[in-house]
Amino acid sequence: MDIHNGFLTINNLQINSIRSLTNIYIYCNLSFITMPRAGDHTALFSTDHGFIALNGHVKLKVLDFLRTGPKSFDEIFKHTGKAKSTISVHIKDLKSCDLLEEYTDSCDKRKKIYRLNSQYMACSQEPIVKHYNNILQQIASSIDNEHTFLNLIFHAIRFGFEAHGINHVPILKKIGTDIGENISINFNSTDLDGLLKDIVNFWKIHNMGDMSIIDTDPLIIIVYNCFDCKSSPVVGKTLCSFDEGLLEGIIFGKLGLICNIKETECYGNGYKHCLFVMQDLLNFV
Ligand SMILES: [Zn+2]
Repeated sequence: MDIHNGFLTINNLQINSIRSLTNIYIYCNLSFITMPRAGDHTALFSTDHGFIALNGHVKLKVLDFLRTGPKSFDEIFKHTGKAKSTISVHIKDLKSCDLLEEYTDSCDKRKKIYRLNSQYMACSQEPIVKHYNNILQQIASSIDNEHTFLNLIFHAIRFGFEAHGINHVPILKKIGTDIGENISINFNSTDLDGLLKDIVNFWKIHNMGDMSIIDTDPLIIIVYNCFDCKSSPVVGKTLCSFDEGLLEGIIFGKLGLICNIKETECYGNGYKHCLFVMQDLLNFV
């Protein structure tokens, strides 16, 4: 264990011990965000003790496996295909950093169970500077138009992270869920059909886009004139992870339903609309 540049390093784990995050949802351990699997990515996780940077392939595989729920040591051992002694060391490291926690099986006191105690927030990526530079060049001439100026600032933040090699999709989605849960008290309906109508109306009132419900089984939502991405460049991928989180947060906050909403079509990947599809729905409360 060493300290480098203000970070506490344990093997290939790094802990910034200064920050403390307390606003982690009870359902964060069921996050549907896919973690990076390639060994050349560094992933950032938030815990109650701050950020932890992790780039060990086996450790990432263990944490990814735990996203689907608590697992026994044997289940983790079988899933990873590594030696038990190797897995023991990795679990010990992850436990020491609060990335996971251990408890005893209530049916078998000899059996240890592990569950996720952290949330995946971001990962490193190849820097993409083209879109960021284009936005910076437009900002000076946009200051007389408040809407365009604020929009460009929002886009500059998004593409600025990318330009500096940070994939911020998970944390944007998390912030969306945080906001969604907090504003859910403003919605009146107590069933999903009614709540969806309220959400459509909410998007309209707040000029967030022209939303319609295309189907309810599975839930498919289309948004034209999306406030978030309509004026974004075509970048070959969807851009509205914040909106995914916002929708999930409202539904969870109001109805106690955990759902996985994924944007499949977006202005960012060449469409003239955004399309959101609900892929999983769990009854939580
Ligand atoms: Zn979009």
